[in-house]
Amino acid sequence: MLTDAEDVSEVIELSSEERAGFAASEQLFRVGITPYYASLMDPAHPTCPIRMQAIPSAAEGNIRAEELRDPLGEDTHNPAPSIVHKYPDRVLYLVVDRCGIYCRHCNRRRLVGGDEPPTTADLDAGLDYIARTPRIRDVLLSGGDPLLLSTRRLDHLLGRLRAIRHVETIRIGTRLPVVCPMRIDDELTAALRKHHPLFINTHFNHVAELTPDAVAGCERLVDAGIPVGNQTVLLRGVNSSVRSLRALMRALLRARVRPYYLFQGDTVLGTDHLRTPVETAMELYEGLRGWINGMAVPHLVLDAPGGHGKVPIIPNYLERIDHESVVVRTYRGQRIEYPQPRERDCTVPYDAIYFAGEPADDDREGSS
Ligand code: SF4
Repeated sequence: MLTDAEDVSEVIELSSEERAGFAASEQLFRVGITPYYASLMDPAHPTCPIRMQAIPSAAEGNIRAEELRDPLGEDTHNPAPSIVHKYPDRVLYLVVDRCGIYCRHCNRRRLVGGDEPPTTADLDAGLDYIARTPRIRDVLLSGGDPLLLSTRRLDHLLGRLRAIRHVETIRIGTRLPVVCPMRIDDELTAALRKHHPLFINTHFNHVAELTPDAVAGCERLVDAGIPVGNQTVLLRGVNSSVRSLRALMRALLRARVRPYYLFQGDTVLGTDHLRTPVETAMELYEGLRGWINGMAVPHLVLDAPGGHGKVPIIPNYLERIDHESVVVRTYRGQRIEYPQPRERDCTVPYDAIYFAGEPADDDREGSS
């Protein structure tokens, strides 16, 4: 792994701003870049999106009053070691503290970096919490990057999760398909496919990351029956143009990766220079919705500071609504009237028959 200016300057010629960024980052957030990801850097242009995601900027030292160490309030929703429980039916299970790259926009920079890995006791305590909390139906393995665990260890953890009857689905969040696609080998996919239904969410931010190697890695996962989704973080000057986002989303679909979320940047320490105004995010979203295949359009969301969850930030396509009709604005800006139905009662009579004897499935009163 490349960890300092000296390492990186063997691959590209660093600008003076980038050298200043390395110096500033020493006390802030570690640097780590796989040789593969570094090989994608444009040696001539510091504005290269690969460089901007991996090489620190001196602006990281400009800490704003509104920025937070823990922008998503994870440390206050931490009922057991290695667990973040914010939503009613699902948890984050933080199984490792190392990554294949230390992204300059990372919202978990306080935790990742390899100094305090979760212990076996932490991971056991996390599994115990999941096992004794029947409302948890979904577990998202994260960290750090779970695919940095050895295949044997990951297989073992997944097997223990699968043995918990109320865990219906397992997800893994990983950036390795982007920064080290060769990790997705036959041994790994053979281990993962034993634990279906299992989903992978990865994190491509720019079309230049979808190299033939990265596409092949994603395809190996999909061929193993693992649906792969993508979470993009909107980053100012990296992907904050309609042209860039359309190209990324189309390339993801071609690689059989489903665009899932487009995140407004979190208010994490030292990242103001990478965030876009929310109005810009909405304008960019409007440049996707309707203009490209709907399957390629991710949900634009803002993770509410303090751990209050993801909030969709959808441009207003509904201009008027009453009992008679609604007026919608199409993606081309036309105003169209849609008549409402005459009947308004939407009760499903067959629910009482089909779900007879099952407990009510409404967690709105019982969030943790
Ligand atoms: S891979 Fe994920 S957890 Fe690791 S530094 Fe990047 S954004 Fe943060």
